[in-house]
Amino acid sequence: MKLYNLKERSQSVNFDEAIKMGLGRDQGLFFPEKIPRLTNMDELLRMPVFERNVIIHRALIGDALTDEQLNAVVEKTYDTPVKLRPLDDKKGAAYCLELFHGPTLAFKDFGAKYMANCLSQISNQISKESSSNNKITILTATSGDTGAAVAQAFYGLENIDVVVLFPKGKISELQQKMFTTLGENIRTVAIDGAFDDCQKLVKQCFDDAKLVQSLGLNSANSINISRLYAQVCYYFDAIGQLSETERENVVVAVPSGNFGNLTAGIIAKCLGLPIKRFIAATNANDTVPRYLETGQWQPNETVETLSNAMDVSQPNNWPRIEYLVTSGQFDADLLNGVSVTESQTAEAMKQMQQQGYISEPHAAVAYHGLNQSLVEGETGLFLGTAHPAKFKSSVEDILSIELPLPAEIDAVKDKADLSVSMKADIDALKTYLLR
Ligand SMILES: *Cc1c(COP(=O)(O)O)cnc(C)c1O
Repeated sequence: MKLYNLKERSQSVNFDEAIKMGLGRDQGLFFPEKIPRLTNMDELLRMPVFERNVIIHRALIGDALTDEQLNAVVEKTYDTPVKLRPLDDKKGAAYCLELFHGPTLAFKDFGAKYMANCLSQISNQISKESSSNNKITILTATSGDTGAAVAQAFYGLENIDVVVLFPKGKISELQQKMFTTLGENIRTVAIDGAFDDCQKLVKQCFDDAKLVQSLGLNSANSINISRLYAQVCYYFDAIGQLSETERENVVVAVPSGNFGNLTAGIIAKCLGLPIKRFIAATNANDTVPRYLETGQWQPNETVETLSNAMDVSQPNNWPRIEYLVTSGQFDADLLNGVSVTESQTAEAMKQMQQQGYISEPHAAVAYHGLNQSLVEGETGLFLGTAHPAKFKSSVEDILSIELPLPAEIDAVKDKADLSVSMKADIDALKTYLLR
C-alpha cells in the first residue's frame, strides 16, 4: 500500500517510511492514492475489537509490519475502552462517543500510542538489521492535548527524543502539567505566540534537510499519517455498538481543529463503514465552514476560545479531505460545516447537564452542530474528545459545579513545570534542538 505526497505525486513511500518521515518533500502530506474497500461489513462490525482493528490496519498499512508486530501494536494501542453514552434528545437518538478514557484523557492518546508503538517496532527492526545510529527526534506542536498524549506515549522509549512546542499561556495549566513535568527524553518549549506559530516552526524545521538528517527529525502531529490511521478504528467501534436499525442513518459530528479526526472518520467511510454524513463543527476559528460555504480559503487570525484545542485557523489536514473529494472517493455534499459561538458552546454544555451529562467545551461544539442539523430518523454521534476535568475551570464556571480531579491529573498537578520559554524564532529553535 503506497502513500503519495499530495504536493509532489512523484514521491511515493511505504507506511514504514511515511511514519518515519512525517512530511514529504515540499511539506507535502502523505496519503494513499485509493482507500481500499473492506468487505463483509456486518461481520466486521460484530467482531471483537482487537481482531477488527488488526484487519483495518492491515488494509491500510499493507505489509509494512509483520503479523507479530501489528498484533503487538494493536494490543497496546487499544487497551482503553471507547464508550457510547446515550443522551435523550428530542429530535432523535444522540450519543456521545467518549474517546477520553486513555492515559491523558483525550482521544489523542490513540494516535500517539499507535505512532509510538509502530515507530518502536520499526526502529527495533532497523537496529537489529544494522548497527547505524538510529536516533529519532520527535518535534511536535500542540494546542494542548497532543503534547500530553505524545509525551506520555513516548516517555522512556529508547533512542527517541521528544520536543514539544506549545503556545505560552494559551493552554490550561493542568493540560500543560500533563507534559511539562515528565523530563528525561521529553523536552518542552513554551513559544511566545499562537498554536499556528508553533506549527509553522515545526514545518520550518522540516524544510532544513541537514537538520532533519542530523536529528532524525520526525513529527507526531496529525500530519503524520499514522495518527489518523489509529483514529479510524474507533469509528468502527462506535458503529459496531449501535443497533442494526440505528446504523442505517448515522450522522457524525466532529469537533475540529486541525481536522485529523474528521479525516479519519472519512477514511472509515471510504473503507465501507456505514456513515450517512458528517458535520465539521468548529469554534470561531471557522476557516473550513466558511470555505464550504463560499469556496474561498481565507484563514483569519487565530482567536482564543473555550475549546482551545481547536484554536486553529490553518488546519493541516484539510488537503487530505480535499484529495478524497477531488479523487471521487468522498462526496463533498456529505459534509456540512458549522461554526459555533462561545455562548452556544456554553449553552450546549448546559443542555447536556440537564440531561444528566457533564461535558466540556470541545464536545459541546459538536453537540451544538449535531442538534442543529439532525432530522427525524437519524442517529447522531458527537465525539467526546476530552475528559471534562481537563477543562476543569471553564466546566466549573459554566455549569456551577465542582469537578473532582481524576487520578491522571491529580498525579501531576503539584509537580514542577520543566518547560523553557522561547520567542517564535526559527533560529533560536534550531540552536536549542542542536544543543
Ligand atoms: C485536538 C483536539 C480536537 C481537534 O481535533 P483535530 O483532529 O485536530 O481536528 C478536538 N478536541 C480536543 C479535546 C482535542 O484535543
